[in-house]
Amino acid sequence: MILQLINQRQRWLNLHRLILPVAMALLLLASACGSSQSNTTTDADRLTVVTTTTLLADLVKNVGSDLVEVTALVPPGADVHSFQSTPADNVAVGRAALLVSNGGGLDQFLDQVIEGASSDDAVHILAAESLLELDDDDPHFWQNPVFTVQYAEGIRDGLIAADPDNAADYRSNFQEYKDRLTELDFDIANTLDTIQTDRRHLITFHDAFSHFAERYGWQVTSLVGSDASQVSPGPMVEILDRVREQGIPAVFAEPQFSSGLLEKAAEEAGVEVGPIYSDVQDGDVASYIDMMLFNAKSLARLLR
Ligand SMILES: [Zn+2]
Repeated sequence: MILQLINQRQRWLNLHRLILPVAMALLLLASACGSSQSNTTTDADRLTVVTTTTLLADLVKNVGSDLVEVTALVPPGADVHSFQSTPADNVAVGRAALLVSNGGGLDQFLDQVIEGASSDDAVHILAAESLLELDDDDPHFWQNPVFTVQYAEGIRDGLIAADPDNAADYRSNFQEYKDRLTELDFDIANTLDTIQTDRRHLITFHDAFSHFAERYGWQVTSLVGSDASQVSPGPMVEILDRVREQGIPAVFAEPQFSSGLLEKAAEEAGVEVGPIYSDVQDGDVASYIDMMLFNAKSLARLLR
């Protein structure tokens, strides 16, 4: 009986002797496969960047290209103004080498998360830092592409502070992106030029477009401040009646914030509701540049 046990144990040991070399060989094979790709940047090499909004994440991707791995805390289509962070956000912030928020009261929730969760050597920048003294009412500075160049500049400097070894790449990516933003500014102006001067009035629900209006010489009216679903039908119909009387055929709302109520009130007043975006999300507006072009075309289509 004792002998039998010893034999069993012996077989176990023999089995291990066999398994171990096979496992080692497999491991070596796996690491050899991995090292054959050493000329491309792997996820582990990338600089981990966390932003508040999807729009900021897009700007970081343009300046950081494949040197960065970027995550936005506010999901696409969600409202940054009312966003509440989750424990998963703390984990993401804890891993980040660079944290990017807008500033100006738009995304202050990040400050609290950073205080509790960020690593001590993480760099935190406010993308709108250089613009905040211009205006303390509307922090949506990116609605003016000239201001977005300053965002990209701040992001470039943040990337260099967190990852100085790749400074030259961040500088040249920035230059390239700056040229695209300059082109975007021309394209928007050209598209808006097709609209009759007396109809250059952007009427929105979300108070996010004053910098856009200022850049292109438009009038802007924000009807309710932020969320159209918060307004009751009576006042909404009244507001839209006045819009109609001024000869403005359309008002604009972010599709995710607009509601059946808004659509119904607009229909009653004979005013169209067109789509406009203030943040990047899936579909036609998956990048900052696409979003801005989409907005200009939406205005041109419904107002000219
Ligand atoms: Zn906003």
